[in-house]
Amino acid sequence: MGYYDGMKALVYADKEKMEIRDVPKPAIGPDDILMKVKSVGICGTDLHIYRGGLDIPRGTIPGHEFSGIVTEVGKKVTNVQKGDRAVAEHVVSCGKCDYCKMGKPNLCGHSKIIGLHLSGALAKYVRVPANLVYPFPNSMTFDEAALIEPLSIALYAAREAGFLLDKRIAVLGQGPIGLLLDQVLAAAGALVTGIDVRPNTLAFAKKMGWAHHTINSRLQNLRARMKEIKSADGFDMVFEAVGIEKTAELAFDITRRDGNVYLLGVFSAPVRINMMNIIKKELNIHGSWTCAFSFPDSIDLVARKKVDLKSLITHTYPFANAVTAFKEANSYTHNRLKTIIKL
Ligand SMILES: [Zn+2]
Ligand SMILES: [Zn+2]
Repeated sequence: MGYYDGMKALVYADKEKMEIRDVPKPAIGPDDILMKVKSVGICGTDLHIYRGGLDIPRGTIPGHEFSGIVTEVGKKVTNVQKGDRAVAEHVVSCGKCDYCKMGKPNLCGHSKIIGLHLSGALAKYVRVPANLVYPFPNSMTFDEAALIEPLSIALYAAREAGFLLDKRIAVLGQGPIGLLLDQVLAAAGALVTGIDVRPNTLAFAKKMGWAHHTINSRLQNLRARMKEIKSADGFDMVFEAVGIEKTAELAFDITRRDGNVYLLGVFSAPVRINMMNIIKKELNIHGSWTCAFSFPDSIDLVARKKVDLKSLITHTYPFANAVTAFKEANSYTHNRLKTIIKL
C-alpha cells in the first residue's frame, strides 16, 4: 500500500494525436468495481474525439464500448463478483432527477459519460459504478462483448418503435449501427430494407440475411426499387443511422403518410429540412439517444444467437498499436465495419 501503482492508457493528447502514457491506476469507491479491460470497440464518437470535434480535455482516456474481467469490487457491491467476465454501460446518470425516476436515465441532465467526461476503457483498468455492470456467459468472446454497447443502442431504438411484426422498415445507413438495427428488426419479424451508397456493405447485409432487400440510393432509382419491393407508397418506419442532411431528408421522403421516423444518427451540423414533407404526411418523428435498460437483453440476444456480432468485426489491433488503430480507423474506412483494440 501507498506505493505508486501505475498503468498504461491511451490518451487524447491533441487534435489527431493519441498517445500511450503511464497514468495512475484508478481507485474504487464502495459502489464501484475495477475492471481489467480485454476488448474495446472504436466508434464514430471516438473518431470524433480523435479529430478534435468534441473539445474534451487533453489527457482524457477514451473508450466506452468495452468488456473485461472484474478484478476488484467495492464494499457495497452485490451484483457482480471478482472474476466475472463483464460489460458495462457508459452513461453514469444521477439516479435522483425526474428523468432517472421516470425510467429515462439516458436523458438525465446530470449524467457523465465514461470515455468522455470520465476515464474510459482504453487502459489496463477502468473504474465503473457497479450498477452499470453486467456479467456475460462464456459462450461470448470479449471482442463480441465489446459490441454489446452498440447493439444496445440499436435494440433500444427498435423497442421504442413498438410492435414490429410484418412492418416494412427501411434502415438508412448500413454501418455497424445500421447493420445491428437490421438484425434486431428482422429478429422481431419486420421486413427490412437496408439503404446505403456503398455496394459492399449492402451486399454484405443481404448475404448475411440481415436485410431482406437493399437499395443503393446513389446507383439505383429509389422510387423504382421501392415499387419493386412493394413499398411504392413509402415504408411504415424509417430508421436514420447516418446523421447528415441528405439522409435526414431521405428519411422523411421515403416514409409513408402517418408513418414513423426514428433518428439515431449523430449529426455534427444543423440540417435544412422541408417541413411541409412532415406536416402534409403527418409524420411521427422520434429522436433516440443512447440507450437505457438494454444491456441484459442485448447479452441474451447474442447468447441465444439471434444477433451476430462477430461478423461485424473487420479489424483488430493489439493495445500497443492503439495509436495506429485510431489513425487507420479514421482514414482507411474502405471495407471497415468495426475496429477492436485488444488489451
Ligand atoms: Zn460508441
Ligand atoms: Zn438523473
